[in-house]
Amino acid sequence: ANNVELDSNATVLLMGLRRSGKSSICKVVFHNTQPLDTLYLESTTKPTTENFKSLIDLAVIELPGQLNLFEPALYDYEKLFASIGALVYVIDSQDEYLSALQNLAVIIKYAVSVNPKIHVEVLIHKIDGLSEDFRLDTQRDIMQRIGDDLLDYGLEGVQISFYLTSIFDHSIYEAFSRIVQKLIYELPALENLLDLLMQYSNFDKVFLFDINSKIYVATDSSPVDIQNYEVCAEFIDVSIDLDGLYESPNNRNSLQQQQQQQMKRNSIAGSLYDDIGNAKQYQNSVSGEEVDVLTNSKPTKCISKLENGTVLYLHQMIRGLALVAVSRFDDTDEATSISVIDHNVAIFKKSLEKMWEHAKYK
Ligand code: GDP
Repeated sequence: ANNVELDSNATVLLMGLRRSGKSSICKVVFHNTQPLDTLYLESTTKPTTENFKSLIDLAVIELPGQLNLFEPALYDYEKLFASIGALVYVIDSQDEYLSALQNLAVIIKYAVSVNPKIHVEVLIHKIDGLSEDFRLDTQRDIMQRIGDDLLDYGLEGVQISFYLTSIFDHSIYEAFSRIVQKLIYELPALENLLDLLMQYSNFDKVFLFDINSKIYVATDSSPVDIQNYEVCAEFIDVSIDLDGLYESPNNRNSLQQQQQQQMKRNSIAGSLYDDIGNAKQYQNSVSGEEVDVLTNSKPTKCISKLENGTVLYLHQMIRGLALVAVSRFDDTDEATSISVIDHNVAIFKKSLEKMWEHAKYK
């Protein structure tokens, strides 16, 4: 019974009215779908569950919009709400949202009555269609109205977090990163380790990424600058492509073509490709040295230096995670710095493995 409870703490329930963007969010964040390809998605009609293995085993349950909480025959809502870690409610900010807010108030009232510890997370979604000023006005308006509604229900103490999101930029990843982090029991210990690693390795910023989704499950305690996030997330794609390139010489040509296509699609990654020579050099020097036991072939490390002097460092960790760091070090002692970093990161990886061994959820 204990296990069930711990597993379910890592469950995220995604709700919202029809066409608010739930399926699109799942497709883009967890299945690497291009945002534009979500235009013609069929709307959610039945509950769907997806499981993601990461540092925690994350389950995202998506419920259709027209939900009748008073018809429990359809679904065991009580059991469901009692067992989830976070309720994520999606509001379409480009649409008339008053009915969404009423729906949300009813759901929050029910959710906290069944599960007082639940994290309530509200995505003010599709903000790509709103001007900068209007975004903040919308957020203020929504917060105010939800506050009033909850007051009417006598629920003024409920903590709600709000995020401005769009599938067309990194805001949706940032939001999910923060939401998932709240569910990770070891987060403070992880952050401490990352702070230490920063300090001893001269990093400007370090993320622990879930490679598949590009959600970061932890970062050091310095503030997150969205540009750093973007560069690191795209570096993961570049590194994966490089992996492919050096893995199978037979596929070399077709892989190179694929890369050129991606380069066109993606301008930030494009600038990284200028430094492919650099990355290749480093990668060659480590290939064979470390081999991921599971896939038995992939190099686990990639380093690239950008034109502006920034160095990106990626090292594969356990459970589909990668450590990605941004750094600037002196040209003169680059080689020493990298060996110091390698050493520190190896220690971090060991600590992560230990932490995982003792993790509550497994
Ligand atoms: P669901 O019924 O809640 O699952 O909604 P869908 O995922 O089917 O999305 C409905 C529509 O909203 C689709 O045409 C999506 O392309 C669109 N959509 C989803 N997210 C965004 C967004 O961030 N910005 C914009 N402009 N459109 C979005």
